[in-house]
Amino acid sequence: MPNIAVLTSGGDSPGMNAAVVSVARTAASLDMPLIGIKRGYNGLINTEGKWEDNFVNLDLNTVLDIADLPGTYLRTARCDEFRQHEYRVIAANKLREMDVAGLVVIGGNGSFAGAQYLCELGIPCIGIPGTIDNDLPYTEMTLGYDTAVNTCVDAVRAIRATSRSHDRPHVVEVMGRDCGDIALSTAAATGAEILIVPEVKWSVDEVADKLNRQLQKGNPRATVVIAEGAWNSMEPFDVYSFLKPYGKQVFEGEPMTSNRLASVLKRKCGMAEVRSTVVGYTQRGTTPTARDSMFAFEAGYIAVNLLRKGIGNQVIGMKNGKLFHMPINEALAVKPEFDLRTFNIINAL
Ligand code: ATP
Repeated sequence: MPNIAVLTSGGDSPGMNAAVVSVARTAASLDMPLIGIKRGYNGLINTEGKWEDNFVNLDLNTVLDIADLPGTYLRTARCDEFRQHEYRVIAANKLREMDVAGLVVIGGNGSFAGAQYLCELGIPCIGIPGTIDNDLPYTEMTLGYDTAVNTCVDAVRAIRATSRSHDRPHVVEVMGRDCGDIALSTAAATGAEILIVPEVKWSVDEVADKLNRQLQKGNPRATVVIAEGAWNSMEPFDVYSFLKPYGKQVFEGEPMTSNRLASVLKRKCGMAEVRSTVVGYTQRGTTPTARDSMFAFEAGYIAVNLLRKGIGNQVIGMKNGKLFHMPINEALAVKPEFDLRTFNIINAL
């Protein structure tokens, strides 16, 4: 049987290793040797060094203990050269030289764009959506999203406990790039009172008004959940001019941050304290939930079976709880639809 290969690309996401194990088990059961490519597309265009620097034979022993490890055993990286045609030709030729009949790409939309170019160069590729951001609207689920949300939910619950003890509001920033889904699910799951996302324009004054309304209603410990991409949907606010008179260390032209938003809200709402926490990379480096691992295992199985039949140029997704596949370009063209209804319910007061 021909070789197949697998790589992880873009940001790491919990469940990537489970997907690699599934690909390895399925390939082994079909007697298809599997090559792991290290550091995303970099491993394919790096022509210097030893074979082991860029590749690994993924037999069952090699992947024995990695199924529930967070991060990615294969490593991941951005590879800017891959945006240029000449480097994609180098990659395709490398795969042909290694007798690779198909490639599984585990990553986000950028990685899928790269996979589509490889398909055009004659290498069948199957994409498995691996990103915590949930920013691939063709699918209900991306690998790592469920884990990231649960990590944020745990963090916000812990924060709300201390907020309750001190009667003190808290700003919590979560990841998601330009997608507010992690923030939305986290706020819904924890009962956070104020939600700020990239999909909806907002202003500092509006958030201060909301927090003031919470205070008037007898809630001095509201949680503001903000998605990292929401700094781009904020109406301009001169944080320097506002905070400088209070002796805060902020320089002209510096951007708003969670910490600064907490400082501004403290003053605008007349609170003794408003604190902030950025949940950060724990969202990416946490052990995958069973839901993410299930998705990874099913997706890996489908990916290898498609390649075995000589089918490429597809991505795997979930619709109505069931896995399906569709052409890469069609998947990448699906427009995002943010759940405004739930957003408005959370922000109702
Ligand atoms: P995440 O959602 O975690 O950021 P991603 O796959 O979207 O994952 P990107 O950094 O956008 O992450 O892309 C990962 C890699 O895919 C890039 O470093 C590059 O190698 C390749 N890539 C991205 N966009 C393109 C493109 N338009 N053409 C070719 N290759 C691309």
